[in-house]
Amino acid sequence: MRTTDGWRATGPTELRRVRLERRDLRPDDIAVRVDYCGVCHSDLHALGTHDRHAEAPLVPGHEFTGVVAGTGSEVTAFSVGDRVAVGNIVDSCGECAMCEAGQENFCRSFPTLTYGGTDRRDGSTTLGGYSREYVVRDAFAHPLPAGLDPAAAAPLMCAGVTVWEPLRSLGVGPGSRVAVAGLGGLGHLAVKMAVALGATTTVISRTQDKHDDARELGAHDLIASTDPRQMAAARDTFDVLIDTVSAPHDLAPYLKLVAMDGTLSLLGYLGPVAVETTDLLIGRKKLGSAGSGGRPATAEMLRFCADHSITADVEILPSSQVNTALDRLRRNDVRYRFVLDMSDLD
Ligand SMILES: [Zn+2]
Ligand SMILES: [Zn+2]
Repeated sequence: MRTTDGWRATGPTELRRVRLERRDLRPDDIAVRVDYCGVCHSDLHALGTHDRHAEAPLVPGHEFTGVVAGTGSEVTAFSVGDRVAVGNIVDSCGECAMCEAGQENFCRSFPTLTYGGTDRRDGSTTLGGYSREYVVRDAFAHPLPAGLDPAAAAPLMCAGVTVWEPLRSLGVGPGSRVAVAGLGGLGHLAVKMAVALGATTTVISRTQDKHDDARELGAHDLIASTDPRQMAAARDTFDVLIDTVSAPHDLAPYLKLVAMDGTLSLLGYLGPVAVETTDLLIGRKKLGSAGSGGRPATAEMLRFCADHSITADVEILPSSQVNTALDRLRRNDVRYRFVLDMSDLD
């Protein structure tokens, strides 16, 4: 076994530095020195639902960048010293229809999650990127394109690809009218990507407070959802509405904004929702969702971001401040993503 240091959950709001084991490299593994790991809403959720007395430790973190520190005997795609990025899935069956379509994120036998997942070969529980080293199958690591800042690129691997897949699969391009509800980790990347794809892009926020922030991200307009006149004026106008609001909320006001044959893509809140069918019927509107990305889309997203100089707006903290980052994320006190600098674990 290899050993490394990382941050393990000891309670719903607290992680403690511990020594962790990583598997010895298999022929198709690479060892990654983790330099930067984003702090995702999923990490908060995992901490909140984790059984503290469970046998396997919870080490969160599933959007990280780093440098290859070792390669297995059969690895040809990577060499020691290469910059790489890893997202929220680290393996899949490779044989089902979803995997064959390049949608390993939807693998029918469930993809192996970067943390809290079960390794397909030895049955161990995966430990995430809040640590100085990660061992990953080469096929699920991506070369980090030159020109992308490794700290600001880390959130592309979860938040980024989660908004990229729906934007692409819904055909967003020049002339599209896109709205983005919620301006957090997901939302701010959705705005940057939609703008770079050529869409006329509008932010939907509770008030006009974030108007300047939205413009800085490249958005063309902001609609205040609490202003009935603005909401009425925007009725039936968006081909795609990317909804990144993480709290449960009424979809009816957003569905009214979707254009005929348009789609509301629900990305932030996962759970039961109530929909009045006539809100879909009138205008043949569609309700969809998405999450994470397959390997081809992830590679495409990284290339696109490199070509358009898109990274997340991040606040970098030393990993020793992980508990502060989680507390502040819980209060939405971040613009727009925390990234932990893991070098203090040396
Ligand atoms: Zn995530
Ligand atoms: Zn599969």
